[in-house]
Amino acid sequence: MAEGVDLWKVRARLEDREAALSPFAARSATSRGRKRREEPSPLRTEYQRDRDRILHTKAFRRLKHKTQVFIAPQQDHFVTRMTHTLLVAQVARTIARALNLNEDLAEAAALGHDIGHGPFGHAGEEALAELLPEGFRHNYQSVRVLDRLENGGQGLNLTFEVLDAIEKSSKAREDILAEGWGVPATLEGQVVKIADAIAYLNHDIDDALRAGVITEADLPDAAWKLGANTRERLDTMIRDIVEASWDATGERGTNVTPVITFSPRVHALANDLRDFMFERVYFYDATRREAERGKAIVRFLFRYFVEHPEEISPGFSLPEDPVERRAADYISGMTDRFAIRLARELGCPEALDWPGIA
Ligand code: MG
Repeated sequence: MAEGVDLWKVRARLEDREAALSPFAARSATSRGRKRREEPSPLRTEYQRDRDRILHTKAFRRLKHKTQVFIAPQQDHFVTRMTHTLLVAQVARTIARALNLNEDLAEAAALGHDIGHGPFGHAGEEALAELLPEGFRHNYQSVRVLDRLENGGQGLNLTFEVLDAIEKSSKAREDILAEGWGVPATLEGQVVKIADAIAYLNHDIDDALRAGVITEADLPDAAWKLGANTRERLDTMIRDIVEASWDATGERGTNVTPVITFSPRVHALANDLRDFMFERVYFYDATRREAERGKAIVRFLFRYFVEHPEEISPGFSLPEDPVERRAADYISGMTDRFAIRLARELGCPEALDWPGIA
């Protein structure tokens, strides 16, 4: 090791940079902290460590074979949960940076926000919600995976702000800005929530066009008013959020209460576009048929593992939990193709002859 270098100077420099952020930004130095105290790192702030911990999980790796909209797509160009997650992180970082907020916190929360999604996207989530007495929501499961299940049942011991932003990242159906599961405690959490919506609306349009579920001519007026293509629409929405949320920079004084939001015009257009996607893509017949098959597989696996809890792989549930909870934790960790293959081996009729899954 080279002599005479004080690595703690790096940490001091990183924290100085955070000190120069907006007065409304979250700072890792004043984080509400972790459940268990840890020695600090000389090279990374607490939020940077959280981001790295999430990236290193097996649950993160499995996102590449989990459904975004189209189940187990055979073509390479469809968006999976992994690509979705990376795009959310990029949009969130751009907005956070533009508003002088904490980019590292936004990135960490974005990378973890969908880690609790099970196989078959929202269909898998609905099936588990019907089966578990306490219900099932992917945002709560994301927190559970990161805080309890990963790391051999120890959890990652993440900071409060990262877990809070992940728990509250989900939105209700009726409005792109609806609260759903609570307002995040930090503006960075609000950024992730809105970045999620911007990312999925745009890449889901691309995928729906690619799949032939819709054509360009089907796109509603709102889409064209936002831009002629994905690039323009993304740009319009991101710029709009930065302008409409400018108070978050603190440049207009600190006695305002900033929120992360759209302008009324773009908000209305984004909602119209979202309604169109629900009607024409998310609830589309062929999507629904595949979704029903996915749900049947989840129900089959759930019944199977409740009856055979000894076959739940170690490390995917907590041994002291009720058997239904353990089955749900195990199944929700599965990728689409793992669930299909396993259900097929176990004799589930809906898992037979799934295109592209050998
Ligand atoms: Mg998401």
